Amino acid sequence: MACQARIGRSENTETMANQDEFFKKVVAHAKEYGFIFPSSEIYDGLAAVYDYGQLGVELKNNIKQAWWKAMVQMHENIVGLDSAIFMHPRIWKASGHVDAFNDPLIDNKDSKKRYRADVLIEDHIAKIEEKIEKECEKAHKRFGESFDRQQFVTTNARVLEHQKQIDEIHERYAELMNANDLDGLKQLILDLGIVCPISGTRNWTDVRQFNLMFATKMGSVIDDSDTLYLRPETAQGIFVNFLNVQKSGRMKIPFGIAQIGKAFRNEIVARQFIFRMREFEQMEMQFFVRPGTELEWFKHWKEERLQWHLSFGIPADCYRYHDHEKLAHYANAATDIEFRFPFGFKELEGIHSRTDFDLSRHSEFSGKKLQYFDPELNESYTPYVIETSIGVDRTFLAIFSHALKEETLEDGSTRTVLSLPNKLAPYKAAVLPLVKKDGLPEKAREIQHLLMPDMMMQYDEKDAIGRRYRRQDAIGTPFCITVDNDSIVDRDAEGRANDNYGTVTVRHRDTMQQERVSIDQLPAYLKAKL
Ligand code: ATP
Repeated sequence: MACQARIGRSENTETMANQDEFFKKVVAHAKEYGFIFPSSEIYDGLAAVYDYGQLGVELKNNIKQAWWKAMVQMHENIVGLDSAIFMHPRIWKASGHVDAFNDPLIDNKDSKKRYRADVLIEDHIAKIEEKIEKECEKAHKRFGESFDRQQFVTTNARVLEHQKQIDEIHERYAELMNANDLDGLKQLILDLGIVCPISGTRNWTDVRQFNLMFATKMGSVIDDSDTLYLRPETAQGIFVNFLNVQKSGRMKIPFGIAQIGKAFRNEIVARQFIFRMREFEQMEMQFFVRPGTELEWFKHWKEERLQWHLSFGIPADCYRYHDHEKLAHYANAATDIEFRFPFGFKELEGIHSRTDFDLSRHSEFSGKKLQYFDPELNESYTPYVIETSIGVDRTFLAIFSHALKEETLEDGSTRTVLSLPNKLAPYKAAVLPLVKKDGLPEKAREIQHLLMPDMMMQYDEKDAIGRRYRRQDAIGTPFCITVDNDSIVDRDAEGRANDNYGTVTVRHRDTMQQERVSIDQLPAYLKAKL
């Protein structure tokens, strides 16, 4: 099965061919079914802030639980933390965020719209990548099964020309970013002929730096020294608690500290729904290792994190690594795991080898020694750190958009189905009495209460059964349990025994296949499937 967002599944190519159209459907579906609402909507919303509705909060919690289980529960040397959002202001000086957590911004003088200079250039590169993709798709159609992508992209003249352009832009762009050369960035935008998507002109301002942290005040006395920042990442809460956790937990290196929490960034261009928000949630893990072993651990976490993504059953070609050309001055390796969102490949998770930068800086700024005594080496040192950092909301968007499909059925009708991984689905099963009489609702309620302690359940008795199935398909419920007369009547009118007595129909969301399962067996049956 190929990645949906790129080529669409067969049923999607007809109805959701256009990626923009598809993305609009994702946003509309999320709202219509109570997954995600614009924040403060009755006051016309607040830019790039969203609220998770009754189903969204379930899916989001399930994603967080899956991450926590994989990182904390399944690793005896990783423990959790829940540090405060407010932290001492010097932390952000030490971490470098006060001085360097900037994005280069540029305005278009005609549309008055503001952009991130680096994103304009990356989008330009993505457009050239799309051209390569189109060439590949055309060739694939022409050559059919015998198409060899690797051979094609290394020999086709048009593809090679596009690739050359990309490499040249990348090289120049990386040099400019590394040198923090803002004039050079503007020149690159002009040279590439990048136009404002709104005004269509190249009438750009100079590029300026813009700090992304939100500042606020603490306490009743207002003066400069009270300025606090809403944390732009959760990681610093982990670094400043390194010794607390290490000592109280008697942790031995290598070990990790994991945390899930809110982060805030005053993003210049907040768009693409929950992909780039001003208030969002991160799941971060800092893994402390012996200096000199960090690149092995970096490789380890790079692979392990990709496996976590693949464990949801989404095809591997929806993911790719993007190794950083521009390394932060403190990092000695960094990669992104990118996902093919409906608007192209974009960062989903970052894995960074951060050396001893963070602990050393906090030692320097706090005056407290943040070191580890290694009993095997009989020496103290500042541990090196591998960080894995992933956005909850981006993971939500990746999984949700990949799951949403419109299918044409054999009878020509269509259905919208959200094929979420079973373990992430908000409701695991819905109990549906076939009709609203003859004791069926009572039996259905009994089954609902039987299963409720183990899983999130829905009960629905309104409308024809087909419509109820469609409603559950649209919210991603993997199983519908239908209670009919056979479930409750042990003998027919002639007194013959009913073989289906005490059973229900279980309908599977993705295949729409149905099977009879005994009510007694239901808890074990569903648990095994989930
Ligand atoms: P980008 O380049 O897309 O701005 P970043 O490199 O600044 O992302 P990191 O600082 O590495 O991102 O943050 C780690 C993760 O947090 C990202 O991979 C992403 O999943 C998530 N994230 C970062 N910024 C946002 C945001 N504004 N909205 C939603 N998620 C975000």
